Amino acid sequence: MKNHVDTYQYKGLRRQLVELLRKKGITDEGVLAAINNIPRHFFLDSAFDKIAYEDRAFPIGEGQTISQPYTVAYQTQLLEIKPNDKVLEIGTGSVYQASVLAEMGAKVFTIERQKKLYEKNKDFIFKGNYPNIKFFYGDGFQGLPTYAPFDKIIITAAAPFIPPKLVAQLKTGGMMVVPVDLGPVTQMLRLTKLADGGYTEEQFDNFSFVPMLEGRSG
Ligand code: SAH
Repeated sequence: MKNHVDTYQYKGLRRQLVELLRKKGITDEGVLAAINNIPRHFFLDSAFDKIAYEDRAFPIGEGQTISQPYTVAYQTQLLEIKPNDKVLEIGTGSVYQASVLAEMGAKVFTIERQKKLYEKNKDFIFKGNYPNIKFFYGDGFQGLPTYAPFDKIIITAAAPFIPPKLVAQLKTGGMMVVPVDLGPVTQMLRLTKLADGGYTEEQFDNFSFVPMLEGRSG
């Protein structure tokens, strides 16, 4: 069961969360405004209502998690989102990250490999607010060739390697933000696509994520 009532109390908790994210180094005002505007408790079972605005990941079923707000903010900031950016997200999960992108004016294409999570998202309460999110059931390693190329790509699970098909679906000058599993740590990388089809790579902090898995799960 989910609680879909927002109150001053939840709004206050969100403002505190935004202040915490500022202290942790998030500076993109667009990202902070989106997090301030989106009731994260709508995306979680009501059992988590009281703690929904703690800076923590929580279970969302099927062994998956909603990412920690700091992680969502960090990845979104690295994407340098502009209104009307065409963004591919791998790992829809709870739809929270997709909603942050949509709130910032991006056109979001999001893929989930877990059938049950994909089905759940059909009833997603915020759908009416965000006609700019399109949902797909599929394997993120394949991307969405029909809708390519994308301005930005965000992977929200730990990738075992940089998926070549996703690099191919980026525009020249486009960016991909991807946590890559290096064994002992999972490091956030930002790739920028070059005109010759290759990319440059910038390295950022370490994070923890559920694994990006091959194929769909029925
Ligand atoms: N962005 C989500 C985070 C969910 S956790 C949110 O805001 O809640 C990562 C998600 O990636 C999980 O739901 C998992 O099932 C999904 N996933 C893992 N590997 C995938 C793949 N190859 N293709 C698509 N989704 C994948």
